[in-house]
Amino acid sequence: MEHFDVDIAIIGSGFGGSVSALRLAEKGWSVAVLEQGRELRDEDIAAAGADPKKLAWAPALGLKGFFAQDVFEHVGIVRGVGVGGGSLVYAAVLLEPKRAFYEDPAWRDLSADWEQELRPHYAAARRMLGVVPNPYHGVQDDWLRGAAERMGVSREDARRLFEDAREMRESALRDRYGTRAGHEKNGDDGPRS
Ligand SMILES: Cc1cc2nc3c(=O)[nH]c(=O)nc-3n(C[C@H](O)[C@H](O)[C@H](O)COP(=O)(O)OP(=O)(O)OC[C@H]3O[C@@H](n4cnc5c(N)ncnc54)[C@H](O)[C@@H]3O)c2cc1C
Repeated sequence: MEHFDVDIAIIGSGFGGSVSALRLAEKGWSVAVLEQGRELRDEDIAAAGADPKKLAWAPALGLKGFFAQDVFEHVGIVRGVGVGGGSLVYAAVLLEPKRAFYEDPAWRDLSADWEQELRPHYAAARRMLGVVPNPYHGVQDDWLRGAAERMGVSREDARRLFEDAREMRESALRDRYGTRAGHEKNGDDGPRS
């Protein structure tokens, strides 16, 4: 990079950084994206499948792969590092939140109707990322179905279990970190985004 006089510098080239850079550049701003990881070729990704040292990002150990893992007391974090950020390692599953997500007291008052506000952006993301039902049926799908059948779990049961697990996880998060509603009850307006 020869000159540093840009209107906007974005740190990180993942989904957030790269989409912001695109939209800002479309509006005529000069934009620089700073990325700590490297640009990967298909061969690098294939090689990492056979050699964990080529996969791992741990610069202190001299490892400059593209998959990082941080382990803390209560949480483990995995992330992609390189041009493209998490898109280098993500599973390409593109789900949209259901109504219940937007109604969660932790964030429902971020906007009058943010489901409605986000709808056109989900549509743009669906179109640009080419969202389609997964046409691939792999051996893992057979294993999962076989296990469910052996356990006598129907598709409907599985959906209910998934919803229950999500509710349990959200309620545990609310207990641990509180909610915006909880902050207000205690006279603290809580953080705004
Ligand atoms: C294994 C895995 C599977 C996933 N599967 C899915 C999925 O199927 N569907 C889905 O929707 N989501 C999935 N995700 C989540 C998704 O990848 C993330 O939500 C998304 O990548 C977050 O985007 P981001 O722009 O916030 O950050 P990231 O994509 O993480 O990008 C951050 C970038 O910033 C760079 N950076 C950080 N600090 C600095 C610094 N100081 N200087 C320079 N560069 C820096 C990093 O190297 C990285 O490239 C998955 C994530 C992982 C790890």
